[in-house]
Amino acid sequence: MVYKAEYIWIDGTEPVAKLRSKTKIIANGVEPGLWGFDGSSTSQAEGHSSDRVLQPVASYPDPIRGGDNLLVLCEVLNIDGTPHRSNTRALLRPIAERYAAQEPLFGIEQEYTFFQGHRPLGFPDSGYPAPQGSYYCGVGAGDIHGRAVVEEHLDNCLAAGLSISGINAEVMPGQWEFQVGPLSPLEVADQLWVARWLLHRTAEDAGITVTLDAKPAKGDWNGAGAHTNFSTRAMREGYDAIIEACESLGRDDKPLEHIRSYGAGVESRLTGAHETAPWNEYSYGVSNRGASVRIPWQVEVDKKGYIEDRRPNANVDPYVVTALMVDTCCAALEKANLG
Ligand code: ADP
Ligand code: MN
Ligand code: MN
Ligand code: MN
Repeated sequence: MVYKAEYIWIDGTEPVAKLRSKTKIIANGVEPGLWGFDGSSTSQAEGHSSDRVLQPVASYPDPIRGGDNLLVLCEVLNIDGTPHRSNTRALLRPIAERYAAQEPLFGIEQEYTFFQGHRPLGFPDSGYPAPQGSYYCGVGAGDIHGRAVVEEHLDNCLAAGLSISGINAEVMPGQWEFQVGPLSPLEVADQLWVARWLLHRTAEDAGITVTLDAKPAKGDWNGAGAHTNFSTRAMREGYDAIIEACESLGRDDKPLEHIRSYGAGVESRLTGAHETAPWNEYSYGVSNRGASVRIPWQVEVDKKGYIEDRRPNANVDPYVVTALMVDTCCAALEKANLG
């Protein structure tokens, strides 16, 4: 007997990489092994030397096909076994390992927008829906668009064993959110990519497309972010570490270094309006949804917990944002003897 392994990888499309996948039939009892693909069709190679290698790094039960079938997340390698330049997971690995003793955890809030044709789902064919106000966490066909796909995606993620912590309807019609975590840096980023693949795949059957575009509707409509919640053991145990993490993100050239890697079009979303801070000014504050980094009110009450970096775009690469946050915050915490 055999099973189907859906090999999933991240391509070389710029400025925002896309997900790709293909199916391998494998004999029962045999683990998914190395495989190849045509990198010249995914912006990962030239035609004259086009072979690239898929290295399985994590497997999940396939909720679409069921049975013994698997979703197999892969890193992309060159044929000499070195990581391909599009392989950002390989850059996160050593950083996660270097600071593993601080036990960093992440919870990422993935916002996204459904589209039907060229308009967000729920937008009329011409003109605009009623202004924002009643869509966020709303109920009823007047305010809510696409819930059937959202529910099916949630069930698919749970059946795949992903650590989804919740879902909600967002501020703009057709806009939704799910959260992954809290998990270690590699786990949260792997699971977020697989949850994204499942989202595109689930919506595909309904004839709906999904965009992670940071500003899918121009004008007075909220953008789409990927708020990144972060803690280390010291932050989960005390407030000095919470403050040091917030301070470290504002030091020297850190604000710009982070912003540059927080997703394509981040300036168009971080305008200072629509619950964002301006992209070129770093700030942090308790309960402040207009700050770059928010300390949740409960964290201030408890004097321990986690912080929320509100700047990353919906289209951010989770391998990149987690690597940057661990590198910046954990190095500072170690230096301040809070590691
Ligand atoms: P918001 O109020 O900003 O909408 P959400 O409830 O959508 O917040 O998301 C909060 C996220 O924070 C969840 O993904 C949750 O798993 C994560 N989280 C909770 N505790 C921690 C922690 N100690 N470290 C990191 N992430 C955490
Ligand atoms: Mn949220
Ligand atoms: Mn949100
Ligand atoms: Mn948030």
